[in-house]
Amino acid sequence: MNTILLIEDNFSNISILEDIFLFDDIPARLVSVETGEEALRRAIELQPVLILMDLRLPGIDGLETTQILKRNPLTKDIPVWAITAYAMKGDEERARAAGCCEYITKPVHALELANRLRIFLDQLKQRETETWTRQKC
Ligand code: MN
Repeated sequence: MNTILLIEDNFSNISILEDIFLFDDIPARLVSVETGEEALRRAIELQPVLILMDLRLPGIDGLETTQILKRNPLTKDIPVWAITAYAMKGDEERARAAGCCEYITKPVHALELANRLRIFLDQLKQRETETWTRQKC
């Protein structure tokens, strides 16, 4: 079973994501952590197929956590999707510059995110059967 790692410090957003995985038939398991520091350890250990990264976190923030993940050979190829309430001009560009390849704005729309996750996992499965390498971003 593929793992998706969520880094999120807000309880209601964690619940939204957990519900998506419980009720929307997403073929992956969700592991959630609340800090960037913990994410760095767990990403190496779990080798998730995808990381969902809240940008505003206590301690090291999501942008810096993403930059560290992207510098580490053990985690640099794992796609990171930013999840953020930041809606200022330039924020998406900053997230992409840090290494995030998708940008999801809060409030998280559960059905839409579930669809995007399903599409992502379908494409991943296709690439595996075609023996393609993991998507880089
Ligand atoms: Mn947060």
